[in-house]
Amino acid sequence: MKNSWNGFAKKSIEERLELVKAQALTSLEAKKSLEQNENLSLAVADQLSENVVGTFSVPYSVVPEVLVNGQEYTVPYVTEEPSVVAAASFANKIIKRAGGFTAQVHQRQMIGQVALYNVPDEEQARQNILDKKASLLEMANRAYPSIVKRGGGARDLHVEQISGETDFLVVYLHVDTQEAMGANMLNTMLEALKPSLEDFSQGQSLMGILSNYATDSLVTATCRLGFRYLSRQKDEARELAEKMVLASQFAQADPYRAATHNKGIFNGIDALLIATGNDWRAIEAGAHAYASRDGSYRGLSRWTIDLETEELVGEMTLPMPVATKGGSIGLNPRVVLSHDLLGHPSAKELAQIIVSIGLAQNFAALKALVSTGIQHGHMKLQAKSLALLAGATEAEVPKLVESLIAEKTFNLEKAQTLLKHLRS
Ligand code: NDP
Repeated sequence: MKNSWNGFAKKSIEERLELVKAQALTSLEAKKSLEQNENLSLAVADQLSENVVGTFSVPYSVVPEVLVNGQEYTVPYVTEEPSVVAAASFANKIIKRAGGFTAQVHQRQMIGQVALYNVPDEEQARQNILDKKASLLEMANRAYPSIVKRGGGARDLHVEQISGETDFLVVYLHVDTQEAMGANMLNTMLEALKPSLEDFSQGQSLMGILSNYATDSLVTATCRLGFRYLSRQKDEARELAEKMVLASQFAQADPYRAATHNKGIFNGIDALLIATGNDWRAIEAGAHAYASRDGSYRGLSRWTIDLETEELVGEMTLPMPVATKGGSIGLNPRVVLSHDLLGHPSAKELAQIIVSIGLAQNFAALKALVSTGIQHGHMKLQAKSLALLAGATEAEVPKLVESLIAEKTFNLEKAQTLLKHLRS
């Protein structure tokens, strides 16, 4: 059967809407919401934030055919950056042909911390707190009983002495937050523990707060591509694979490259986090901390070659404590639509899709960088943005894009001059 997503990018918006409605949406409400381009109302926006004077729009796109653990997803992307969606679509198509992603959630708990200072005997305090572990966990659960009813709750607690300009005794609480990210749950539990922890340590508590360094929520995505998926020409395919491995090694060794390498990964991850109503600042902070876990900032993904099978192997692990409930998730119609598009995955399933998407985005960037160079693919999209900025109408845009590419000069002045010329 002919793949219905073929040529999706070249279809009109109306045709794309029809296809997405038919292929990917499950509920009537979601279909109506997509059709009507339903967005956040001013009244709800006013409830979500403060000093609201309006709402802000960004393009809402889809990346079809994302294959993770044998399941195909139509993935919503919220991004204004040209070429990100095109690169993701291209990468996912190739990776799907090669068998898709395998993803795994290692664990899913959030960590919160209470920092104690002015503790007279840190070792004694540590022992006192650990002796009371069971009652402290009970106390935390009593502070947020609804998560216990949902099958989650405080699971463990450990204590560490952190030395710096001031010595801190830090109590770490590990909580199963089920489908929520759990910031407010953790913060409520930690606040409830503070008086007892001060009592057991004879110190003072500085703060009780969730940590975004979510090392108990690690997720790994991998993909394997036979060289033939990289190019029809055998030698070129092998050379491409080898250069992608070098690019990955470069991002491990040089923080200047690592930052850009990881930015490319977050081009995809952020787009999906925003579309699903997740706190992208929280996930970014955790991932960048994870990228520095051995003291140097490194690329988050690694590409290697399996010589036996002649495959390029991509792998990425990062903290991904995303939510499908809580925050603004049920309140923004676009976010509700995104969860429908994805088939209402659980938080664990969503985390696996997100890490896979990041790896796909990285694949596209590295492949372009080590072959044609990133500007090649960007040129047309950059020219399109410039044409729009210069004031070209819908009918004028394709002609102006063509002229800009022919002239190989990409700035606003050139676009304006060419547009004038086109109109004369
Ligand atoms: P919420 O405070 O919204 O709590 C989760 C909500 O989801 C609860 O009301 C819970 O109901 C409900 N819920 C429904 N079904 C489930 C389920 N199956 N599992 C879990 N909860 C469910 O969100 P979070 O505590 O997750 O906090 C996230 C928000 O906090 C985000 O907006 C984030 O931006 C913000 N934040 C982030 C910080 C950080 O990252 N450092 C710090 C402070 C805030 P019930 O109460 O009945 O259990």
